[in-house]
Amino acid sequence: MKDALVIGGGIAGIQAALDLADMGVQVHLVERLPSIGGRMAQLDKTYPTNDCSTCILSPKMTDCARHPNITLHTYAEVIALEGEAGDFRATILHHPRYVDETKCTGCGECIARCPQKVPDAFNMGLQNRKSIYLYFPQAIPQVVTIDPDHCIYLQKGKCGLCAQVCQAGAIDFTQAAHEIDLEAGAVVVATGFDFFHPGELTHFGYEQYPNVITALEYERLVCASGPTEGHLLRPSDGQPARRIGFIQCVGSRDVRHQVFCSSVCCMHSSKQAVLAAEHDPGVESTVFYTDFRASGKGFREYVARAESEYNVRYVRSRVARITEDEQHNPVIQYEDVATSRPAQMTVDLAVLATSLVARAENAALAQMLGIELDAYGFIRTDPFAPVDTTQEGILAAGCCRGPFDIPESVVQASAAAARAAGWLVG
Ligand SMILES: Cc1cc2nc3c(=O)[nH]c(=O)nc-3n(C[C@H](O)[C@H](O)[C@H](O)COP(=O)(O)OP(=O)(O)OC[C@H]3O[C@@H](n4cnc5c(N)ncnc54)[C@H](O)[C@@H]3O)c2cc1C
Ligand code: SF4
Ligand code: SF4
Repeated sequence: MKDALVIGGGIAGIQAALDLADMGVQVHLVERLPSIGGRMAQLDKTYPTNDCSTCILSPKMTDCARHPNITLHTYAEVIALEGEAGDFRATILHHPRYVDETKCTGCGECIARCPQKVPDAFNMGLQNRKSIYLYFPQAIPQVVTIDPDHCIYLQKGKCGLCAQVCQAGAIDFTQAAHEIDLEAGAVVVATGFDFFHPGELTHFGYEQYPNVITALEYERLVCASGPTEGHLLRPSDGQPARRIGFIQCVGSRDVRHQVFCSSVCCMHSSKQAVLAAEHDPGVESTVFYTDFRASGKGFREYVARAESEYNVRYVRSRVARITEDEQHNPVIQYEDVATSRPAQMTVDLAVLATSLVARAENAALAQMLGIELDAYGFIRTDPFAPVDTTQEGILAAGCCRGPFDIPESVVQASAAAARAAGWLVG
């Protein structure tokens, strides 16, 4: 039995690794960030069940870390792949954490002492982290990482407070990047998606008006472990948001940007409106949608419940622009499709459901792996063998293929693991 290589440690990569490992395959799971988990780790609750995202994800992350057949390569990337199906040779580059993973206990003493503050990417820049940080509280592995671009010692040769307080002697400023070569019979690509940056859509006012935020920023705001401890507070003044407008298809289904439907936003905006009502039943949420795409099993019923039980209002419309009034309240100007008339609504918070797009690095990744991309920059797969890429022995699952929700990504991951197994036994 040959080893398997899984690239990307989001829910799709985690599921593929667990399935292969349970078959008795030795799996190398490579994640470029300091922790596995992917975007699912940033979500508060997940449709269609409204289960806590972390409660579903964390046990799977722990299973990955503890599984005797899985080797985690976090803060690492595949930089070369040669060979053919059944006989690949990969080179993995490990970035230096400047922390000895075998010694760090994740106690956080160093974080408390570090004087350097940096915008926290996990929390979408809504709060700061330190220069030495744990990627998020449930991170796997539970070890800290030093950000070399902001660490005072690594930039100027001064400070070193983290090394002084670390009882475990885990700080190691001499660490350097290192490469590992390994062999694998099959590769599963699960590198996920990026989100469209709405700044270029200046008519929506993102980054001009403080109370216009993206859906992923909203996930962090509404999350109990997020920057506001789950309170829906407006960025401008910290006051509770009582009227929220959710704007669909921002960048999606638009010939100037992404012509495709991002497939998850109608549902995740409904979920976000439901979560707002669960936090405060007095909240008034309005979803401005193009046409509603709730195509999964039970999804239509979910939306009906949002309307009837959580008082969510749906307006079929096309939003023309967002401005703001003197109190920084976003003013949503739209065409109401039912009346064919222009209308406007003033809200406390406007949430943009930005499209799920292909990662910018996909071109370089595809060239390195010898696979093709589709017209939108996602990994090209065979329509009738949907997890097979254009290269035998290399499979793809989850949002690196296009926008999919979590259940769909998990199905694809299990399919990719099953297809990969065929190349491992010869
Ligand atoms: C605002 C929002 C809300 C959502 N809410 C829901 C919901 O309620 N329910 C639901 O079912 N779905 C929801 N989704 C969709 C869900 O986020 C995706 O289905 C899921 O994250 C896809 O998982 P993935 O593993 O394919 O990709 P990702 O989560 O993107 O994970 C990919 C991983 O690969 C890593 N990676 C990337 N490139 C490399 C590389 N070169 N080498 C190594 N590692 C790499 C990344 O760092 C990342 O950890 C939501 C999406 C958004 C944007
Ligand atoms: S580096 Fe040291 S002080 Fe910091 S979390 Fe790890 S063990 Fe604790
Ligand atoms: S040496 Fe760097 S990481 Fe350590 S405390 Fe100072 S700034 Fe923070």
